Amino acid sequence: MKWGPLIMRRDYPGLKFAECTCFYCKQPFHEDSKDLCLEWDHLNDNDGDNRLENMVWAHAICNEDKKTNFDWKNLAQDKLKENERWADKFDPEREQERGIRFNEGKQTSNEADVSVVIIKHCKQFLSQQLLPHSGNPPKRIEIPMKEAVECVTYLVQEEIGRGSHSAVQRHLESMSCSVAKDYERREVNGKQIIFRRTGQ
Ligand SMILES: [Zn+2]
Repeated sequence: MKWGPLIMRRDYPGLKFAECTCFYCKQPFHEDSKDLCLEWDHLNDNDGDNRLENMVWAHAICNEDKKTNFDWKNLAQDKLKENERWADKFDPEREQERGIRFNEGKQTSNEADVSVVIIKHCKQFLSQQLLPHSGNPPKRIEIPMKEAVECVTYLVQEEIGRGSHSAVQRHLESMSCSVAKDYERREVNGKQIIFRRTGQ
């Protein structure tokens, strides 16, 4: 599923696309107008934070005006918190989609493909970084979750131009959960660390 339908479901339940209005001024969109066409607005003004929770639909001009309108900035902050709560309650079947980056003009692969690429890189990365003790020479025996998430996200994005930290982290957590065969995860000095399971 693309993000449009998710935004519709979250922000415009029961409405048709043509009935959607700007998050800020609540007026309709006009696709042929430079000022009043629909833009994807980043609620926290961080253009790199492409989580679905951080996106709403706004007029191009309202998106611009918001930079100097503190009431709208406050409105945006509240909406971001509300969206984050919505995402937490989100249908688990669709959990995958939350982590998928919104990537303008680069919809080359669907969400299932992204998931496959993430899993592939998680497996490769862990097996390369955490050699078995019998490995010759053994490399390292542990890797911090944070480092693994950053590296795998980089590798996934290099390959397909999208993929989020949160999606990668979910897969790494699954692969190191208490019943996982190859890896385990422990908290050391407040940090999550991934180990290869011993006895292999
Ligand atoms: Zn507007």
